[in-house]
Amino acid sequence: MRFTKRAILALAAAGAVALSAPAFAQSKGLVGIAMPTKSSLRWISDGNELKKALEAKGYTVDLQYAEDDIPNQLAQVENMVTKDAKVLVIAAIDGTTLSAVLKQAAAKGAKVVAYDRLIRDSANVDYYTTFDNFKVGVLQAESLLKGLGYPEKKGPWNIELFGGSPDDNNAFFFYDGAMSVLQPLIDQKVLVVKSGQMGMKTVGTLRWDAAVAQARMDNILSARYSDGGRVDAVLAPYDGLSRGIISSLRGVGYGSANQPWPIISGQDAETPSVKAIIAGEQYSTVFKDTRDLAKVTAELVDDVLNKREPKINDTKTYNNGVKVVPSNLLVPVSVDKSNYQKIVVDSGYVMA
Ligand code: BGC
Repeated sequence: MRFTKRAILALAAAGAVALSAPAFAQSKGLVGIAMPTKSSLRWISDGNELKKALEAKGYTVDLQYAEDDIPNQLAQVENMVTKDAKVLVIAAIDGTTLSAVLKQAAAKGAKVVAYDRLIRDSANVDYYTTFDNFKVGVLQAESLLKGLGYPEKKGPWNIELFGGSPDDNNAFFFYDGAMSVLQPLIDQKVLVVKSGQMGMKTVGTLRWDAAVAQARMDNILSARYSDGGRVDAVLAPYDGLSRGIISSLRGVGYGSANQPWPIISGQDAETPSVKAIIAGEQYSTVFKDTRDLAKVTAELVDDVLNKREPKINDTKTYNNGVKVVPSNLLVPVSVDKSNYQKIVVDSGYVMA
C-alpha cells in the first residue's frame, strides 16, 4: 500500500489525537508539585516519578522547579493555589517562607504535603513524607569510621565537618545524626577537628552549594593543613558537596600515591558520585530510593483525596515549630564500593 504525503500527515495527526485522548478523560483534579531545583539529579527524578505516579492515578499535575530561588518557588505555589490545586506537594527551598501562601491554600480546602523537607512555622502542613533523616547522618558517620578502619585502628584522625543548608530542616537532622556517632570520638580525641569548626552555624552550607563547600575546604586546607598535617576524613552531607570538597582536595595534591584521598561521605547516590566511589575518590553515599518516596507520596495524596487514612509511621519526630506533622519515613541505605552494584545499579536507580 502506498500513502501520499498528505495521507501520512493526516494519519500522524489522528495518531496524536489518539495518544493524547486520556487528557480528555475526567481528571480527578489538580495536584501541584513544587520542587527546589534541577541542579541536583535527585529532584529531577523525584519530580518525574511523582508526576508519573499521580497521572497514573488520574490526576492532572503541575510540576514546577524553582532553581533554588525562594521568591520563584513562592510564586509557583501561589499560582498552584490560584489554579485550585487540591493538594500541594512541596519540597521547600527555605522551609520557613511559605506560611502565607499555605494559609491561602488551607482556606481553599487544599491539603499540603511536605515532600522530603519539612515545611516549618505553619499549621497548614498536613503530612510529611521523607526518609529517616537522623539515620542518614548516623549512616554517614558510621561509614567514615568504617573507611578509617575504626575500631581495629585507633587513630587519632583529622576530620573536617560539613553541614547542609541551614534553611533546610533536614540539614540539622543529618548533622545531629552524624554527631551522635562522631562527638563521643571527638571527646575521646580519636577524631580531631583540626580547623576547630563545628556546629551547624559554622559548618552549614547555604543552598547546598558545592562552590561554597569547595571554598570553605580551600580555606581550611590553607589555614590549618599547610603544616604538613593530613585530612583523614570529611563528613559531607550531600554528594554535590562531596564533589566540591574533592575538587578542593585534588587542588592540593590529594588522590595521589603518597597523599591518598581522605574518607569522604555523601548522600543521594548521584551518578557522578557513584563513579567517584568506584574510582576511590569518595568513600560512601547514602542511597534514598526516591522512586519509593514518590510512590508512597502519590498513594498518600490519593488516600487523602479519597478520604482514606493515609499511611503514617511517625507522629513524634517532626515538630515544625507549630505542630508535629504526621510523617511517613522511609529507610535510607549506606552505599560504598562493596555494595553499590547491588543497591544502586542492579535496582536500576543508576545506569551501569
Ligand atoms: C535532601 C537530600 C539532598 C539535599 C540537597 C535535602 O533536603 O534530603 O537528599 O541531598 O536536600 O539537595
